[in-house]
Amino acid sequence: IESKGPQIIGYDSNLKNEYRGIWIFGEQKNNTLSSITFELLGTGRRLADKLGVPLCAVIFGEDIEELAHVLAQNSADKVYMVDHPSLKHYIDELHTDVFVQLIRKHKPEIVLIGATTYGRSLAPRIASRLNTGLTADCTDLDIDLEKRLLLQTRPAFGGNLIATIICPEARPQISTVRPNAIKEKIASRIPTGRVIRENVTIPKYLRSKIVETVSNETEIVNLIQAEIIVSVGRGIGCPENIPVIENLAKILNGAIGATRAVVDLGWIDYSHQIGQTGKTVVPKIYIACGISGAIQHITGMSTSNIIIAINNDPNAPIFKVADYGVIANLMDFIPVLTSELANK
Ligand code: FAD
Repeated sequence: IESKGPQIIGYDSNLKNEYRGIWIFGEQKNNTLSSITFELLGTGRRLADKLGVPLCAVIFGEDIEELAHVLAQNSADKVYMVDHPSLKHYIDELHTDVFVQLIRKHKPEIVLIGATTYGRSLAPRIASRLNTGLTADCTDLDIDLEKRLLLQTRPAFGGNLIATIICPEARPQISTVRPNAIKEKIASRIPTGRVIRENVTIPKYLRSKIVETVSNETEIVNLIQAEIIVSVGRGIGCPENIPVIENLAKILNGAIGATRAVVDLGWIDYSHQIGQTGKTVVPKIYIACGISGAIQHITGMSTSNIIIAINNDPNAPIFKVADYGVIANLMDFIPVLTSELANK
């Protein structure tokens, strides 16, 4: 698919030659770098070496100098840091504004951002402000050296097609990258990259402010970053049976996912929903328990490394995408599996 990115009024495509270098966004929460940041460093390093350009990381927040140095020690040639009390919490308009100021100043040709809740909110706002394109939810990235283009691969049409998308004219080329999708090793660097403290204009008047942040205590581990997800569908029968799934997730140190059917019934919170109108996940192992395999659900989990489905209907569509299938009643099978794993 060739996106017609340049059909933007007022955009001068000759300017694209002024853009050089690859940026990754150093996502952090409560002064801890997210695992996607390290994945982006690995991917960004590979692409930067191929293009022969520097890899730069960008980080915002309060008291983040230490984090900036971690980025500089892990593959980034330069780290642009904006350390300011106003940037402690994520606010759409504020973080977009700061990021856009830095892009306008330094003109990177490629910007990679994690397809996390944070990145999915930030990236389209930046792309819109800069009149450029955005390819969301990429599962692979490469470079066409001849045309100096980023090849952005992502599932399309509900996962039925894998599309490679380019942004031929507008700059920067912006992609969000699914966590766990591209696993690349990053090498610690000696000497380390440079940390550059950036001064930006912090907008004074904002339409929103963070009053309080409350973490979701019920989530065993973060669904997006989980390596194992045990996901529950309507086949569980009733909400009273959900602890059976939770016990299995606990033993595996996994997170709990759910179908929309279960969420709509009010059996579990929306934050667990996976699929077209929920989260997109790429764990190492996805265990689908009593899930029929509707396309809207498959969209959100089909790129998991290993899919295991447990369903009492041998014709359930979930078996078409599963690597391993178990035809069984959940309430018979899951407790046995859990106790077997507990004894290991
Ligand atoms: P069902 O389809 O009812 O499947 C239950 C399965 O459990 C069946 O296969 C059955 O054989 C099996 N089963 C029953 N009893 C047992 C047992 N005792 N042991 C083992 N197996 C058993 N869905 C999502 O998940 N995520 C989305 O983001 C999403 N977005 C949507 C957006 C739109 C616009 C629309 C129209 C729909 C969306 N849906 C979404 C809904 C989707 O179409 C399906 O309705 C939903 O995924 C079905 O959920 P389910 O598999 O839990 O339930």
